[in-house]
Amino acid sequence: MQNHDYIITGSGASGLMLAYRMAKDSFFDTASILIIDKEKKTSNDRTWCFWENDKGEWDDLVHKSWNKILFDSHSYKKSIPLQSYTYKMIRSAKFYEKLWNFIDSKNNISFIKANVTSISDTPEGAFVETSTGQYRAVKLLNSIDLDQKYTRQEEYPVLLQHFTGWFIETKKNVFDDSVATFMDFTVDQKMNTRFMYVLPVSANKALFEYTLFSKDILTKEEYERELQKYLELNSISEYTIIEKEKGIIPMTSFKFWQDNSKNILNIGTVGGWTKASTGYTFKNTSKKTIQLIAFLKTENDFTNFRKKTRFWFYDLLMLDVLANHNHLGSNLFSKLFQRSSLKNVFRFLDEETSFIEDLRIMLSMPPLRFIIALFRRVVNY
Ligand SMILES: Cc1cc2nc3c(=O)[nH]c(=O)nc-3n(C[C@H](O)[C@H](O)[C@H](O)COP(=O)(O)OP(=O)(O)OC[C@H]3O[C@@H](n4cnc5c(N)ncnc54)[C@H](O)[C@@H]3O)c2cc1C
Repeated sequence: MQNHDYIITGSGASGLMLAYRMAKDSFFDTASILIIDKEKKTSNDRTWCFWENDKGEWDDLVHKSWNKILFDSHSYKKSIPLQSYTYKMIRSAKFYEKLWNFIDSKNNISFIKANVTSISDTPEGAFVETSTGQYRAVKLLNSIDLDQKYTRQEEYPVLLQHFTGWFIETKKNVFDDSVATFMDFTVDQKMNTRFMYVLPVSANKALFEYTLFSKDILTKEEYERELQKYLELNSISEYTIIEKEKGIIPMTSFKFWQDNSKNILNIGTVGGWTKASTGYTFKNTSKKTIQLIAFLKTENDFTNFRKKTRFWFYDLLMLDVLANHNHLGSNLFSKLFQRSSLKNVFRFLDEETSFIEDLRIMLSMPPLRFIIALFRRVVNY
């Protein structure tokens, strides 16, 4: 059995970003680090977008950025300038390439292609069982969802952000690539929260993602029918689909971090790093991996890594409302974008607002459902 100082299971966004930060930090030069994944990814399997105030660490990877976003619904439509913020898009192939190139240059970091079947924390260290054998580490950073525990509990609602996207190329120049459509709720809601997300990367290329925040996924044909319908409605007829993308991101306030133990820390989506009310994960992962590097240098017990904040509770209320009244999403988001400045919405979602600002933002949405959700949570505690 191989022994290591650190094992990182899963080399997707969070595992790879963490390994990259460890590779760049001389503190870890003498540590033996093993990365285990069932594949060493190189493809564009994900398009990561996030907003950022000013310049950012990943700017050299940005494929396209926008200074304006469009919000659209039957009750509110506005093209909103982002002011000091920029909405940025990274395509995963470039991300994987850059980070692996650096990680591979370090001789203390190795990679094994294997299927991870279980992990366990014992007094002798953290153990990883895989298709190619067993590995032991002093500390294990895990980004693989091995048991989907959040699906087997009822305390916290679980919505899914599920979508299918088409990257299309048109014969004529039909897109205004200076504005990204953040949420277009004019699509038929069918008693859910459904919207189109459109990212034009040039005048004749754009990614269209038909997206839902709901409990149940659709069939492949349903997503594709809606994409086709939307393109037709927008008079886009002569196009070629160059790439397809699909995803399912859990949206839940389930306390993922309760599974952390002294020597095993869950990271990425399985560590609860996905913002429960939006599904955004990339920027949070960037912040959390920086915090984790500092933590690894000074602390020993991973159960102390996560600190619960009031934003966890706000996300819970939002998900309570959306889970019980899934058809209200369009109205809630319309009011939010209509009544609060975009800067404050971004700061709120980045968990940077003060308590007074939080209240203002929450009161901008129709309050009755939130008061009922709050009352239910308080009574049940
Ligand atoms: C298509 C898509 C688009 C997204 N777009 C955005 C976005 O625009 N903005 C944003 O903020 N977030 C976005 N997200 C959410 C989030 O950023 C990504 O899901 C992100 O990749 C999560 O990182 P992670 O490390 O938790 O998981 P992953 O990146 O999924 O990494 C997990 C790794 O574990 C490996 N693995 C899984 N099971 C096993 C096993 N049994 N054995 C060995 N290896 C295993 C996988 O191969 C993978 O490499 C998107 C998600 C998807 C799916």
